[in-house]
Formats: sequence, C-alpha cells, structure tokens
Amino acid sequence: MRKLVILGSTGSIGVQALEVVAASDALRVVGLAAGSDSDSLLAQARDHGVPRVALADAGAAKRAAAEWGGEVLAADEGLRALVADSEADLVLNAIVGAAGLGPTIVALSAGIDVALANKESLVVGGELVSALAEATDSQLIPVDSEHSALHQLIRGEGPGTVERLVLTASGGPFRGRTELGEVTREEALAHPTWEMGGKITIDSATLINKGLELIEAHHLFGIPYAQIDVVVHPQSIVHAVVHLNDGASLAHLGYPDMRVPISYGLHYPERVDVAAPLLDLVAVGELTFEEPDLTTFPCLRLAREAGEAGGTAPCVLNAANEVAVSAFLEGRIPFVGIAAVIEESLDSLPLTDPGHFDDLFAADEEARRRAGELVERLGPALAGTGGNGSPSESA
Ligand code: NAD
Ligand code: MG
Repeated sequence: MRKLVILGSTGSIGVQALEVVAASDALRVVGLAAGSDSDSLLAQARDHGVPRVALADAGAAKRAAAEWGGEVLAADEGLRALVADSEADLVLNAIVGAAGLGPTIVALSAGIDVALANKESLVVGGELVSALAEATDSQLIPVDSEHSALHQLIRGEGPGTVERLVLTASGGPFRGRTELGEVTREEALAHPTWEMGGKITIDSATLINKGLELIEAHHLFGIPYAQIDVVVHPQSIVHAVVHLNDGASLAHLGYPDMRVPISYGLHYPERVDVAAPLLDLVAVGELTFEEPDLTTFPCLRLAREAGEAGGTAPCVLNAANEVAVSAFLEGRIPFVGIAAVIEESLDSLPLTDPGHFDDLFAADEEARRRAGELVERLGPALAGTGGNGSPSESA
C-alpha cells in the first residue's frame, strides 16, 4: 500500500483524487489538508479513515479539533508537520495558488515524491524546486492533464529524441471573440469543457492557465521555451503532442476527465483501472486546431515573456494574476483589467535572480502589494471601458 497525503482535498482535484483512492487497492490516505472548509475535511477524514488533518485557517482548525477525535494541525506550520511527519510515500499537492509552494518544498526536502496538480509551485519556483527534487532524489509527477499526457508520451524516449512539445488549450469561453470589455464574471466562469475550481477557470478564460502550463512544462521536461507550442483545440480530446526527431508525432487522447491524470500520478509507474469511458473516435467525429489569439488574450504572451525572462518574473506574474483574479471575481476590476494588472506589475517591479526560496517569498509578497495598488488605481479607470457589471450583480 502506498501511503498518501492529499493537500487541498476539499477542492475540485482533491475530491476527484479521493474518488480515485476509493476505487484503488494500492493507496491509503494518511493525511488530508485544506484551507478553511473544516466540515468537508472532517467528513472526508471520517469516510476514508484518515487519522490526521490540517487546516491552513487557524479558526477552522480550532473548530475541527473541538468536534473530532482525530489529530488536527493548524496553520502553515500544521500543514508542514502533516507532510514532514507523515512517513508518506507520496504527497498529492492540489492546493490552489502560490500557497502550494511551501508544502511542495517540505515534501521534496523530506525526500517524498510529489504528485503535482499545483502548477504554481513550478511557475513560482521552477529552478529551485527542480534542483531540490534532484538533490533529494524525489520525483515530481505531473497531474495537470497536459503534463500528465506529456509525461506518458516522453517516458519511453531516450535523450535527444524530443524536438518539440505541444500543449493544447480549449480556448476557454471567449474563444473566437476579439472584444472582451463587457464580459461578466458568470460568462468567465462557464468553462466549455472542464469543470474546475474558480481560479483556474478564470485562468482558462484569460488563457494565462496555458501560459502557466508553458512554464510548468519547461521545468518538468527541461525543454527550452522556443520548442514548446500552444495550440487551441476546442474539443479538449488531444491533451498534448510530442514531435520526435525521426518525424513521428505522438499524441495523448481522452475525454476531459481529471480522474485519468490523477490516477496516473498517484499510481505511477503502475496503471490501474479507472471507471472512465474509453474514447469513441467516431462519436467525437472532428478534432480541430487553431492558433491562439495573443492580441485578445495578452496573458498568454505575458506568461511566455516572463518564463523566458526567468528569475523572479514568473513569480511576479503569478502573484499579480492571483490578486487580479480575486479582484475580478469580487467585481473590483473588469476582465481586461487582469492582463493590465499583470503587465504593469511586471513593468514596475525590479526582477532579480532568486538564490533561495526566501527570495521568492519576498518577491511574491512585494508583487501582491504592487498588484493590490494597481487594482485600486486601474479598477475605476478601466470600469469606464465596460467590465463585469456592477459589484452587486456580480458578487
Ligand atoms: P479548488 O479551488 O477547487 O481547490 C483548492 C483546494 O486548496 C481546496 O481544498 C482549498 O481548501 C485548498 N486551499 C486553498 N488555500 C489553501 C492554503 N493556503 N493551504 C492549504 N489548502 C488551501 O482548486 P482546484 O481546481 O482543485 O485546483 C487545485 C490546483 O490544481 C491548482 O493549482 C490548479 O491550477 C490545478 N489544476 C486543477 C485542475 C482541475 O481540473 N480543477 C486541472 C489541472 C490543474
Ligand atoms: Mg491543464
């Protein structure tokens, strides 16, 4: 039995991971963690016989401790302890945002393999996280569907055979539009093919999700940015393609169902049965591909530029995006304000070469402060250009 800790277990990925665990004979959950949803977390702990949980929110942890016989750990130290003292074989990191970086560092430092849904760990800390994994001989197994697909496509290849990688993007709810001044929060939250948490759904609508994935792929597979393409594929059936040196191109196909990459990440290098329907090519009928529109969706361009610049640029990009997405969801900036906040943050902050994780935490904090100021300043200015409706409609 592989001992597993799931971080972010109450979210979209976390809940599906527990479904995969329930259907598997190979996994036993020894710890669960979430942000503040103590009721859901305790229900999961009871259902899956988990002895220890952690909650990032100290008040929520206190409430949970009062009503549960198991061990409840609190705050960031609690999450660290849950991972470090778990004797787990594997940690699934399904926390959303840069908050996931700390737990990734703790797991890798303890020599524990990480099944990584939290792409922000690699966006923010790419070089340092990869170096840490190498130093402790621990593995990062991607859970993000495109990267899981690439992992599967590349695992049989020797060095020097991979020429190019292709990440596919659904294009999000605004594919084909060239004017996004008036789009609402509800429209942005209506993803055409994937059902996911709120933050990644907005990231998919701005296409920055694919930009974050470009940076993630660069670090996971050690491929230069110039050799990684993004292609819009509205059906979300082809998850990734690798082009090889002998002219062969390999694709990974399947219906959009996160249980497939989650199961792969949790069982690697084995494969187990997943109750997912097999692909019916005739029923799908048509697979189409198009160039992404970088003018209407500048976030994808900004992410590629930040990745290529390196240093703290991807960290700043990510922090500014998190602040801007929250502000958009709260009705404080329009949809097009997200790109504006990110671009201004990158333009106005000094970018450095982080020598240590503390440099990244400092850069993240400074970028959040700067992006917060920009939301205050740009929000009212941009509101005149349209936006996401009045706060009362959109809250
Ligand atoms: P979500 O918002 O549904 O869930 C987030 C989880 O993280 C919740 O359990 C929440 O309680 C927990 N959390 C939030 N802040 C925390 C903190 N500070 N400390 C501890 N726990 C905290 O998000 P999601 O859609 O499940 O996405 C999770 C991650 O997986 C993201 O990085 C996302 O980009 C990635 N991902 C998600 C999908 C998907 O289909 N949902 C696909 C690919 C990648
Ligand atoms: Mg993805």
